[in-house]
Amino acid sequence: MTAIYNPPLRDMRFVMHELLDVTSTLKEIPAHADIDADTIDQVLEQAGKFCAEVLLPLNLSGDHEGCHFDASTNSVTVPKGFREAYRQYCEGGWPSLSHDPAFGGQGLPHLIEIAFSEMKYATNQAWTMYPSLAHGVYNCLHSHGTDAQKQLYLPKIASGEWLGTMCLTESHCGTDLGMLRTKAIPNVDGGQSDGSYKLTGNKIFISAGEHDMADNIVHMVLARLPDAPPGSKGISLFVVPKFLPEGQGEQATVGARNPIFCGAIEHKMGIHGNATAQLHLDGASGWLVGSPNKGLAAMFVMMNGARLGVGVQGLGLTEIAYQNAAAYAKDRIQGRALSGPKQPDQPADPIIVHPDVRKMLLTARAYAEGGRAFATWVALQSDLLSHPDEEIRKDADDMMALMTPIVKAFMTDNGFFAASGCLQVFGGHGYIAEWGVEQMVRDARINMIYEGTNTIQALDLLGRKILMDNGAKMKKFGKMVQDFVEAEGTNEAMAEFINPLADIGDKVTKLTMEVGMKAFQNREEVGAAAVDYLRVAGHLVYAYFWARMAKVALEKESGGDPFYKAKLATARFYFAKLLPETASAIRSARAGSKSLMEMDAELF
Ligand SMILES: Cc1cc2nc3c(=O)[nH]c(=O)nc-3n(C[C@H](O)[C@H](O)[C@H](O)COP(=O)(O)OP(=O)(O)OC[C@H]3O[C@@H](n4cnc5c(N)ncnc54)[C@H](O)[C@@H]3O)c2cc1C
Repeated sequence: MTAIYNPPLRDMRFVMHELLDVTSTLKEIPAHADIDADTIDQVLEQAGKFCAEVLLPLNLSGDHEGCHFDASTNSVTVPKGFREAYRQYCEGGWPSLSHDPAFGGQGLPHLIEIAFSEMKYATNQAWTMYPSLAHGVYNCLHSHGTDAQKQLYLPKIASGEWLGTMCLTESHCGTDLGMLRTKAIPNVDGGQSDGSYKLTGNKIFISAGEHDMADNIVHMVLARLPDAPPGSKGISLFVVPKFLPEGQGEQATVGARNPIFCGAIEHKMGIHGNATAQLHLDGASGWLVGSPNKGLAAMFVMMNGARLGVGVQGLGLTEIAYQNAAAYAKDRIQGRALSGPKQPDQPADPIIVHPDVRKMLLTARAYAEGGRAFATWVALQSDLLSHPDEEIRKDADDMMALMTPIVKAFMTDNGFFAASGCLQVFGGHGYIAEWGVEQMVRDARINMIYEGTNTIQALDLLGRKILMDNGAKMKKFGKMVQDFVEAEGTNEAMAEFINPLADIGDKVTKLTMEVGMKAFQNREEVGAAAVDYLRVAGHLVYAYFWARMAKVALEKESGGDPFYKAKLATARFYFAKLLPETASAIRSARAGSKSLMEMDAELF
């Protein structure tokens, strides 16, 4: 049984054109001034077709087969069909969609890329991670590479011929990268440095770290220079290709094998089709990217992009889990509706009559549609970073900084809970492999861990993005909420959405102040409150977008299109059943650190 997937194009059009009117904003950005709604819709239609027809059929088989490691050649073979799908992807020009036209890209807005990513991750997260990592390498080199590095690598990545990785983690350091040990020593020829480095060390958990999908793999590796200061201030970034390139740009070919070898791949809970590699650098040649000892800052381009991407993984899985569970719930008959039989001619009613089945479905739906609106708006902010007006660029940059940890953690927590709820809708049939929904739960679990665990995202949000700038970025977002609340305050039809939105806005302001005050006295208060705080902040954001969506739906409902009826019903569900989670999260955040810290470690 293959899972079903209908690309959510109608909802994407709603978000882009009816809710956010993205083309009006894009018109202000010279590079995107000519983009119209039809072009966006057509690209997404083709993209959705690729996902549903090419990627989805490989999802279950890729999960069952996994990747194959051959220790005699240190090589990895991806599951059947993955290479062919990737060939089609490259032939379709998909790798270069939003890349810079100066380096082989098509220059389309990021928001198209994000919508495409949602559909790719929904249909095959393991496969999609291969091109996604290369996308991040492109952006990192585009921001921090030398001209020569850009000329050499970017066209090859844009064409899809070369893929890439991010190599941070080592066995003794995951979250705390300051402890990393991989060394980079300048290559000296005739007493003079030739500009390259020899890298030695071991990396673990490297996604797409070895495979046979592309001609070359461009590894972005964090390592230490000989005179590096200790800790995270002494980390530099290097580009370390699997094969040493010969020639330049589109004409470049692969030369000698660079000694960065795969020693094993991990056996793991999900994303079996993606090779999670242990990599050994045995004097591998690398080239510095950005300034010495400033590698983490350069790598952050890749990490921030990846954090948004991982949030969208959570969104994609929420959507596909919802679609499958909804179809099942309409078909599976068990028991009778509490209000009396709905299908008296059948031996039982479909399970969609049961309130709790509906709750699980609507939870996934509300998180998918709320997340889609949010993610598209964040993607639009990333397009606004190219706006000619400096103030608009600054605002967009602030919103990206504030929202990145919320996208990453809130959307992936929701993705896992939603996928698990959808599995529950299938009962025991969800737990067995046949329907594909248990794979969705397994795949969704990693999204809460990599790219900085969701705890680390919460600390980043509360500690760095909010308290370190005295809440300035949060106030900026709060002002948008406030403006909307004031504009709709007298609209009676909107009261059911506006009142709880205003209420959660006030509560976030108070909670931020309270935690901030406590943190002055005791830094552990931040650690104790952060995860709850992120849930509350995530709900403030979703409540804002759900209220805005409800407004559009209210205005259009009378036309009779059931799409708006469903949108309003889902909005009402969100405010009635999901937003109240904030009450307990606020209470828990306010309860502070004492109950967490008082027990001695040896008593655990
Ligand atoms: C399938 C998979 C793919 C991956 N892909 C890549 C990749 O492509 N490239 C790459 O470089 N890495 C990759 N990783 C590594 C991943 O990013 C790390 O596993 C993750 O960052 C956590 O590090 P860790 O596993 O060492 O856990 P640890 O850092 O040991 O953390 C353990 C626990 O302690 C908590 N913790 C740690 N420090 C703090 C703190 N300061 N405050 C509060 N809590 C804390 C964490 O939240 C976590 O719950 C991958 C991992 C997996 C499993």
